[in-house]
Amino acid sequence: MDRTLAIMKPDCVQKKLVGKVVDKILENGFNILGLKMIRLSEAQAKAFYDVHEGKPFYDELVDFMTEGPVVVASLEKENAVAAWRELMGATNPTEADEGTLRKLFADNVGRNIVHGSDATETAKREISFFFSETELI
Ligand code: UDP
Ligand code: MG
Repeated sequence: MDRTLAIMKPDCVQKKLVGKVVDKILENGFNILGLKMIRLSEAQAKAFYDVHEGKPFYDELVDFMTEGPVVVASLEKENAVAAWRELMGATNPTEADEGTLRKLFADNVGRNIVHGSDATETAKREISFFFSETELI
């Protein structure tokens, strides 16, 4: 089984949607291996999103991701990376399919409710960014 990293972003927590998103995760057959609420420091947010450094939205993204707590989760399923991205929907909610989390709940391309890893290798790095092996059940 494959793993991916999910983040319920600050807008998700502020809008009290964490329960609904966790329900969707479980309804869609993912196992939750680890789950915790944390407040990202600026240094953590910058490091987590370092692939986007220099892009026009980078500073705004770091500000957004540090404005309040997030809930991070390690998910397990067959083809977990693709399956979670499918449930999230497109980055821009205006382009997201009906029924996806971003279509249902996101305000705009920046404040878009959830994060998901983009590849299995990325997922390994992103899971270990937040969880030690002993925290993954
Ligand atoms: N983002 C943004 N403007 C853009 C593209 C991305 O604010 O034009 C933000 C958005 O929060 C997105 C994150 O940067 O989720 C990471 O971008 P990426 O292209 O990796 O999208 P994702 O993998 O989250 O769908
Ligand atoms: Mg991405």
